[in-house]
Amino acid sequence: MDSNNIIDGKELAKIIREEIRLEALEIKSERGRAPKLIAVIVGENPASQSYVRGKVRACDAAGFESETIKLEASTTEEELIQVVDGLNKDESVDGFIVQLPLPDHINPDHVIMAIAPEKDVDGFHPVNFGKMAQGLPSFLPATPFGIITMLDRYNVETSGKKCVVVGRSNIVGTPISILMSRKAKVGNSTVTLTHSRTKDLKEEVKQADIIVAAIGIPNFVTADMVKEGAVIIDVGINRVEDSSKKNGYRLVGDVDFEGVQSKAGLITPVPGGVGPMTVCSLLYNTLLSAKGVIYPKK
Ligand code: NAD
Repeated sequence: MDSNNIIDGKELAKIIREEIRLEALEIKSERGRAPKLIAVIVGENPASQSYVRGKVRACDAAGFESETIKLEASTTEEELIQVVDGLNKDESVDGFIVQLPLPDHINPDHVIMAIAPEKDVDGFHPVNFGKMAQGLPSFLPATPFGIITMLDRYNVETSGKKCVVVGRSNIVGTPISILMSRKAKVGNSTVTLTHSRTKDLKEEVKQADIIVAAIGIPNFVTADMVKEGAVIIDVGINRVEDSSKKNGYRLVGDVDFEGVQSKAGLITPVPGGVGPMTVCSLLYNTLLSAKGVIYPKK
């Protein structure tokens, strides 16, 4: 396989995590304790449990303090919001996340709204989202932040380029479309945000210099939708059956990697692309919180 055009998120995340570890050491020596991140997980969703384990492992490796609060699937919305309130008030906690998805009886919007913006290191609270949209300092949502960091470190020119985002979720598609159009070092793109109601999505994607695919459909973006030389960011993480694997499945993205790679200027693999960068951004936001960079410490 020609790997020259691969954006190696795993390797880049390793480099950035080491940078974060060194900064965390400085913080620890200055204020006597390391940055601290808490993850709250409700229920037994295996994918969520695996994501949270990955986040906690990354915290440990970066010298952060971290803890997972595991709640029963039967936890009520009120009980979860009480836990969130406690973390909002706990001065030893720099940031926390509530892992999504939540069980059906809990409205994720109510929970996100309950998180104090100054501890919202996932960048999901409307206050952080609004500040991001206005170009004000804020916690950027972890996955879009990871994507712009990748583009930055791989010196991808974004100014004046046509960027097509596929998928308009609040956590990926919509915020990355805002970030790519902002007046910033990585930004200044002309952005088209496409979704399930877009007419002739293939034609839209074909125009793109930069494609961000975040829909959750395996191998949705195929070679006939891609312009020669396009930079392709594949956010999707989809489990497909694979009897040759011990666990019976393998992970694939939203892009048909095999079919598309030879046409791409640069492309992220799945796994090992956007995923590791998301975790990295979460650590970075926690570091910013510990330093009081976005919201000064009281
Ligand atoms: P979501 O399910 O919330 O949103 C999917 C979006 O895709 C919707 O806006 C919908 O309009 C659009 N869509 C669905 N079908 C479509 C179609 N046929 N044509 C055009 N648009 C269509 O998704 P999400 O939370 O943004 O996640 C998307 C994918 O990214 C999932 O596979 C998820 O697991 C993955 N993800 C990965 C990371 C990471 O760190 N790598 C982080 C978050 C999400």
